[in-house]
Amino acid sequence: MKKVVKFGGSSLASAEQFKKVGDIIRADESRVYVVPSAPGKRFSDDTKVTDLLYKCYGSVADEVKFEKYLETIKERYNEIIEGLGLDLSLDKEFEVIRKDFLAKAGREYAASRGEFLNGIIMANYLGYEFIDAAEVVLFDSTGKFDAEKTNAVLSKRLANVPKAVIPGFYGAMEDGTIKTFSRGGSDLTGSIVAKAARVDMYENWTDVSGFMVADPRIVNSPKVIEAITYKELRELSYMGATVLHEDAIFPISKEGIAINIRNTNAPEDKGTLIVEATCRQPKYVITGIAGKQGFASITIEKAMMNSEIGFCRKVLQVFEDNHISIEHMPSGIDTMSVFVHQSEFEEKEQRVIAGIHQAVNPDSVDLESDLALIAVVGRGMKAKRGTSGKIFDALAQAHVNVRMIDQGSSELNIVIGVRNHDFDNAIKAIYNTFVK
Ligand code: ASP
Repeated sequence: MKKVVKFGGSSLASAEQFKKVGDIIRADESRVYVVPSAPGKRFSDDTKVTDLLYKCYGSVADEVKFEKYLETIKERYNEIIEGLGLDLSLDKEFEVIRKDFLAKAGREYAASRGEFLNGIIMANYLGYEFIDAAEVVLFDSTGKFDAEKTNAVLSKRLANVPKAVIPGFYGAMEDGTIKTFSRGGSDLTGSIVAKAARVDMYENWTDVSGFMVADPRIVNSPKVIEAITYKELRELSYMGATVLHEDAIFPISKEGIAINIRNTNAPEDKGTLIVEATCRQPKYVITGIAGKQGFASITIEKAMMNSEIGFCRKVLQVFEDNHISIEHMPSGIDTMSVFVHQSEFEEKEQRVIAGIHQAVNPDSVDLESDLALIAVVGRGMKAKRGTSGKIFDALAQAHVNVRMIDQGSSELNIVIGVRNHDFDNAIKAIYNTFVK
């Protein structure tokens, strides 16, 4: 059994947190590849090292500010090194970093140093080999992540290294230019390493005991999801549930490697298991609820719309021509609605309306703004009669007016459109109906 373990920024924010991580790794021989983030926040209004690095790089022109930021970053690492009692100095690395910053090595290079330095400390602390991600996580000449090449190079490298630390978040192009993934991208590095090393499990250690059924900022102490499939997770992440980077499941979803979300501060909790498929019945009919606010709908009405071949295509062409992506598209006999992101649509709305008139000559075009979409997701819904009935009953009882309903053909999710101001109440009502 081999595992990749990835630790998020809050798990590595201080020497105290590093010690918890050390205990976790040493408690299980199979935790052989470690992917660290940069030190995160130690307390709620602390600043993540990644953000300090961006600021430091942004202030290169102002010597006083630049030196101050660099000193603050150095102190963060020295505090960890001293707290762990390590015989290690990062002075040389910081000299290189200072020179590279002054030579304008790039914002991505700057940000990547957070993981790079933390990786060196982690490797020293554990006695594992340090592998610089720049050598094994590869981007092509256009700056796009090269999955195939990375997998070939990384698996070859890991074949001879039984235990290693590979910093998260970055890699490099062939000419050595450092590239980073989007924020939170160390999750992706974890998946990439898990695939290349063909491990049995990818443990992703963070500061919560797993994926919750609903957003804890809306529902008080929501239950933790014990097991969730990649597909369910994709639906929930897309609709705004965070914890794991949205793209982290792609590298391993075809490999059958499970991801286990765990809590560094409560290692005895089992967390959430993310799998390709499972016989485990979900505890509740629904697996999770997530949602996003800030949508607008455009409803187009025309008598006999149904018999007009190409009607939908012509309408959609107008959105495409205006570079607006479409979120949902419920339709009736003589109406079709298109849901879009309000912020993307607002400045183009008059152009879109005019375009629709020209394209299909409708009887009317109506706009509605400040809408929210809520996805109720669950592999268990397919087999259970009355799920949608229960959802709408709960919403009616909570006095929430439903503006749109869309059930995915996989029967894995039901998407409901409500007004922004009903968003929290709707989620609470659905949660309370299914989770007890
Ligand atoms: N340190 C990076 C960030 O703050 C990447 C990561 O933690 O995954 O986004």
